[in-house]
Amino acid sequence: MINQRLPEWFKQEPIDIHSFPQVKHALKGLHTVCEEAQCPNIAHCMNRKTATFLIMGNTCTRRCTFCSVRKSPTPSSLDPNEPNTVADTAKSLGLDYAVVTSVTRDDLKDYGADHFRKTINAMHSYGIKAEVLIPDLMGDHDALAYLLSAKPEVLAHNIETVPSLYAEVRPGASYERSLDILSFAKRIHPEIPTKTSLIIGLGETIEELEQTITDIRKTDCDLLTIGQYLSPSENHRPVKHFYTPEEFGALGKTALALGFKGVVSAPLVRSSYEAKRLYESCYDHRSHDF
Ligand code: SF4
Repeated sequence: MINQRLPEWFKQEPIDIHSFPQVKHALKGLHTVCEEAQCPNIAHCMNRKTATFLIMGNTCTRRCTFCSVRKSPTPSSLDPNEPNTVADTAKSLGLDYAVVTSVTRDDLKDYGADHFRKTINAMHSYGIKAEVLIPDLMGDHDALAYLLSAKPEVLAHNIETVPSLYAEVRPGASYERSLDILSFAKRIHPEIPTKTSLIIGLGETIEELEQTITDIRKTDCDLLTIGQYLSPSENHRPVKHFYTPEEFGALGKTALALGFKGVVSAPLVRSSYEAKRLYESCYDHRSHDF
């Protein structure tokens, strides 16, 4: 994370990281998006013995300008043991709910659908709930239907930003294609909650954000997270605006008024931040306040 001057609301209480080494040890040989994407919540989550697993390697075939994950058109081949290794590690950490995401693998015939399916099945074999944050699978409905046949507890796909910024911020992605992933998933499996995330401060306007939140809700998407963009390095897109906690609160209210079942909107929120709590607050009727 570059040394950008952060507003005072980013100041955090020091976090005791006594569980960190144990979690790091358990994650040996696996990638996490927590580390690869330099997530500001890593100590918070690892201290709760949770992490977001990054499957299919740590090298992506896309070049999003806000993302610090390694990029190459020819990533390494898949590790066939990875699905079981992820499930074994989640079990060893005592998790009953875990998030699995991946880099985008446009180089694979099924874009990684089968690898996700195997990972979900492996986690379910231990009774671990699986939230999967998937790439856009190049909009391939057959690949998505195949992945969803493993019945993950939550299907997530990030819209990330507003359509006017896609060319600059998410080259190779398409706003319509990403909305279609959410609406198709809901159409073929209405029982599976869908979720998406926006990273803001990239240069969008509040009006564009409100329109994007409305477009997302039209896909019957259930869960939404909104967080502040922080630039990973000088080589990445600079932060264009730091939203106040009040502005995040207002966007969250707008989303809830549109009918989302669950919304978390605050500066440090990321796609899988407190994912289990958000899921349980909406689908497990255990009340959680964020
Ligand atoms: S597709 Fe995901 S992992 Fe790949 S560069 Fe974009 S944000 Fe990063």
